[in-house]
Amino acid sequence: MTIDAAGTVRDLRETFASGRTRRLAWRTGQLRAMHRMLTERHRELEAALAADLGKPAAESWLTEIGFLTAELEHTLKNLEHWLAPRRAEVPMSLQPATGKVVIEPLGVVLVIAPWNYPVQLLLAPMIGALAAGNTVLAKPSELAPASSAVLATMVPQYLDSSAVRIVAGGKEETTEILRQRFDHIFYTGNGTVGKVVMRAAAEHLTPVTLELGGKSPTYVDDQVNLRAVAQRLVWGKFMNAGQTCVAPDYLLASRKTQTRLIPHLRRAITDAFGTDPRNSDSYGRIISERHFDRLTGLLDGQTAAIGGQSDAASRYLAPTVLAEVAEDTAVMKEEIFGPILPLVTVDSPAEAVDFITARDKPLALYLFTDSAETKELFIAQTSAGGMGIGVPTAHLTAPGLPFGGVGQSGIGNYHGRYSIDTFSHHKAVLDKPLRPDTLKAIYPPFTTIKEQLIRRVLMPIRRKPHRD
Ligand code: NAD
Repeated sequence: MTIDAAGTVRDLRETFASGRTRRLAWRTGQLRAMHRMLTERHRELEAALAADLGKPAAESWLTEIGFLTAELEHTLKNLEHWLAPRRAEVPMSLQPATGKVVIEPLGVVLVIAPWNYPVQLLLAPMIGALAAGNTVLAKPSELAPASSAVLATMVPQYLDSSAVRIVAGGKEETTEILRQRFDHIFYTGNGTVGKVVMRAAAEHLTPVTLELGGKSPTYVDDQVNLRAVAQRLVWGKFMNAGQTCVAPDYLLASRKTQTRLIPHLRRAITDAFGTDPRNSDSYGRIISERHFDRLTGLLDGQTAAIGGQSDAASRYLAPTVLAEVAEDTAVMKEEIFGPILPLVTVDSPAEAVDFITARDKPLALYLFTDSAETKELFIAQTSAGGMGIGVPTAHLTAPGLPFGGVGQSGIGNYHGRYSIDTFSHHKAVLDKPLRPDTLKAIYPPFTTIKEQLIRRVLMPIRRKPHRD
């Protein structure tokens, strides 16, 4: 063990106690410094992402670096407004008085990031935590070693090192870090480790945000333009070689639509990655041997309608589509998290809704339909962290939308204003002058007159609680 988790947290707590991180100028200074870091050093980050995941530079910009600069710009533009105290209604019984909600920082925040978007998923929560005035200990994933190493060197060169620490490490180091008391823990990764994090947090009654995954379904109806659907699906599913928490995991459609969709998918794959995606500069690789073996294992006994080829030495797995997959096969039992798209037969939108609601609430749900009725059916009858109608994965780049799961796919959310709420305490402040003392009426002893006053005037029961 080479890390001093207790000492690091103690230092961060001291910095927080100094009050420096509460100042708006400090917060915006950190956000600007991170923006400068991404602008000046993006090539190093892109090289690291290429080394870890074979990520094309354009994709790294789209989904990591450019995503983060947009989040920083949106936060810098709105922060002062988001942090302003919010006025609150005060009832007649307390008048004269004013009520307000003060947005205050929590203290020391722990961010634990996964390997699939190793830059975005470490820095995006940090943007929220710093903007909200906290100090941060951030732990990148050991499974993306090049990205982790670059971040560990680069971040201290730009951000305030007494308030922000990047601590690299795997399970052992994270276990030691989790023994410490934090004021908030923000974890992104799988649900099994999510439980470990929540258990550790419970020891100190620390609140958690858990950004988890799961099987995100996509429903395609019989009337929609399948060529356009195929292009969007191929983009959202095979980006980062399918290793995206919000990637469409499986597709629900009628048998007829599946038969018509497959040639469009084949064509869209060829358009994007050529006839042999192995040679494409636009297609990534599987993160590790373990994940490669897990994914090729899911293909055992399956006949691929498209793709299926793999190469263990380069951890290459072709964009793969499986048709008419049965519900009880391995590929439908766990989150795929790779470039395999099973198509499952349902005969109607209502059947698709039943299929989805019979399972864990997904992180994302996608819908391809032109029917307003079908859209309303899915919005009203299903639950998911977020929904994309007509486009997969893109909802998480809209800065005004919260990003997070529900049920098994996660607890809490972030991005933009939602990050400020996640990393702040909403403190209730009631300010009532001592004079005039309108509270006299409620002080004991309770005479009959006082009781009538309380019942009828100060806190009357209204016949109609609210107008319809
Ligand atoms: P991972 O293996 O990198 O683990 C995530 C983090 O947990 C790492 O920092 C790792 O060091 C730490 N960790 C691992 N084992 C631990 C243990 N026993 N104790 C303490 N810490 C431990 O990443 P992963 O979990 O394979 O990530 C993939 C999963 O994450 C998928 O389920 C995916 O859907 C989900 N995910 C969710 C989001 C989201 O935003 N909701 C984003 C990306 C990934």
